[in-house]
Order: sequence, then structure tokens, then C-alpha cells
Amino acid sequence: MKGNTKGELKSLVKGKIVFDAPMAKYTSLGVGGRADALVFPQDEDDLRVILQFAQERAIPYYILGNGTNVVVRDRGLRGIVISLCRGFRRVRIIGQKDEEVLIDAEAGVNLKHLVRFTRERALTGLEAFTGIPGTVGGALAINAGAFGSEMRDVVKSVAVMEGTGSVVVKGRKELRFSYRNLVLSKGAIILRGILAVREAKGEKVTAKAEGFQRLRVQSQPWNMPTAGSIFKNPEGTPAGQLIDELGLKGHRIGNARVSEKHGNFIVNEGDATAAEVLALMAFIRDEVYEKRGIRLTPEVHIIGEG
Ligand SMILES: Cc1cc2nc3c(=O)[nH]c(=O)nc-3n(C[C@H](O)[C@H](O)[C@H](O)COP(=O)(O)OP(=O)(O)OC[C@H]3O[C@@H](n4cnc5c(N)ncnc54)[C@H](O)[C@@H]3O)c2cc1C
Repeated sequence: MKGNTKGELKSLVKGKIVFDAPMAKYTSLGVGGRADALVFPQDEDDLRVILQFAQERAIPYYILGNGTNVVVRDRGLRGIVISLCRGFRRVRIIGQKDEEVLIDAEAGVNLKHLVRFTRERALTGLEAFTGIPGTVGGALAINAGAFGSEMRDVVKSVAVMEGTGSVVVKGRKELRFSYRNLVLSKGAIILRGILAVREAKGEKVTAKAEGFQRLRVQSQPWNMPTAGSIFKNPEGTPAGQLIDELGLKGHRIGNARVSEKHGNFIVNEGDATAAEVLALMAFIRDEVYEKRGIRLTPEVHIIGEG
């Protein structure tokens, strides 16, 4: 991005902008090159200005949540990376009918915060998301799930800003969720979701959430730099089990290593490159296909220039 384009963008946007942003710092796996600009719009108007700016100059843009399910390639991203993590963080109860309670959660709200919000109010439905380090926007966009629950189970509607800047609200029946996916039109950005939870006994909600957290801590390298599950689970055997059965746990390329704790996690042991992570993914994929005839597909979103 040229200097005068950067200056123009800076003069138009109210929120924070980081030029030549080191994406390793903004993603949980900690690999990848720089993005021309990482922008944190303050509100919907600010976001609309950015989209218009990008469209008028034919600058590509990419939406990032907490960056916990992405692998950024080593040459980084050209164009604008937009994150709602700073400006879109409101969560509130907007209605109740009998035991059902409706929560309006903006896209930049951390799932950790959302789960705590429901726990503090003795509301059940989100306990399985305890410990997923993403945002509401990211979780809706990929239909995040764990322990048999998915985001689609609790969603009533989703508000989306289209690339043109117009906002549309889609009800549950119009939303096409599938395993780790929600169909969105090209360039669309999730602004918020309305989620339905239910009143319950506080101690039951807490016990359930803590139980899931314990399982997560026991089975995942939760305190290491990772991007969560690397591959989607194929029909039948889970990806982690396949990788484990082939003896690939602990296999490394450079500083990228298959976690000893969970076969479907790749850990950055310090200064790994995206090339090393991608080479390790290719190695696992080839081994699983050759030995078991199963084609693994990535769950992580691989972005940027290699
Ligand atoms: C230790 C660990 C454990 C994890 N456990 C789980 C798990 O149990 N289950 C699970 O499903 N995932 C898990 N993940 C992966 C990840 O945390 C979740 O998928 C999370 O929902 C991604 O949210 P994010 O905000 O980080 O999105 P990002 O990683 O930033 O983005 C993911 C995708 O969503 C898109 N996106 C993000 N925000 C928006 C938006 N506002 N509008 C439109 N598109 C958007 C991005 O463009 C990208 O394609 C785990 C990750 C880690 C590191």
C-alpha cells in the first residue's frame, strides 16, 4: 500500500490502524508476515467508511476475529485486514420469554467473556464454548463447536454488513450453517448475533462449564501457540485419532510440531514459519491418505501470500 493511500485511510478512520502489522502477533499460532494495514473500526459507520475506501480503490480486505483459527503465510497480506475486536464488544440481554433469554452479542466479544456473562446470570446453552479463544464473529463464521454443541444450536439471527455497506439481518432459517461453516456472501462481515439461552440453576451451569474446561485442559495444548484443530474431522474416525494411530504425534518440521497431547493440533515451538506449519500439514495429509485412504481437509483458514 502506497504512503498516500495509508495517509488517506488514516484520515478517514476513527479506530486504531496498525500499518505493516506483524500478523504473527495478532494470531494465536504466531506465524506469518505483515499485513499492509490492520484496522480496528470503532463502529458500524467507521466500518462502512473502510469498506467504501477499499472498494473505490479496488483494495482487497480480509476479516479477522481473534486470529485463533488462521494460518497467515510468510509474506503476509496485501490490502486491509479488518478486526472488530476493539469496537464491537457489547453484550446485553434484549428479551426474555418464559425460560428463554435472548442475548445480543457483538462480533468482537470474546467467547470467554460471553460464557462468563451467561454463567454469572445462571443461563445455560453456551457452556461447551468455555475455553474456545475466539470471538463471537469468528465463532459464527465458522460455526464453532465442541463437545456436541455448535453455534448454530443457539443462534436466532445474525446481522451482517455486506461489502456495499448495507446491513441485513438473517433469521435462523435463512442461515446456512454446516460443519465448521456458515455461508456468507463474498466480503460480508458479521456484526452481531442474537443467541438464545435458557434460565437454569447457577451451580449446574458452573459445574457443566468447569467440566468442559477440565476436559479441554486435559486433552489439548491450550497453553501453547496453536490455531486449534488443524483438520476437519472426516466421517468416521476423528482427525486427531487418525494422526495418533499413524504415530505422527511429536513429528516436527523446523519449529512446527504435532502436539504430543492432541494429534490434530500443531504447536509453534518458537519462531516457526508458516512454511514449516504448511509443510507439516502437507506431510500429515499425505501420510493419512497413503496409509488410510482418507483425505483430510484443513479446518484452519490459510491466508496471505506464500
Ligand atoms: C487452544 C484452541 C482451542 C480451540 N478449540 C476450538 C473448539 O473447541 N471448537 C472450535 O470450533 N474451534 C476451536 N478453536 C478455533 C477457534 O478458536 C474458533 O474457531 C473460533 O471461533 C475462531 O474465532 P476467531 O475470532 O479467532 O476467528 P479467526 O480465527 O480470526 O477467523 C476465523 C474465520 O472467521 C472469519 N471471521 C472472523 N470474524 C468474522 C466476522 N466478524 N465476520 C465474518 N467472518 C469472520 C475469518 O475471516 C476466518 O475465515 C480453538 C483454537 C485454539 C487456539
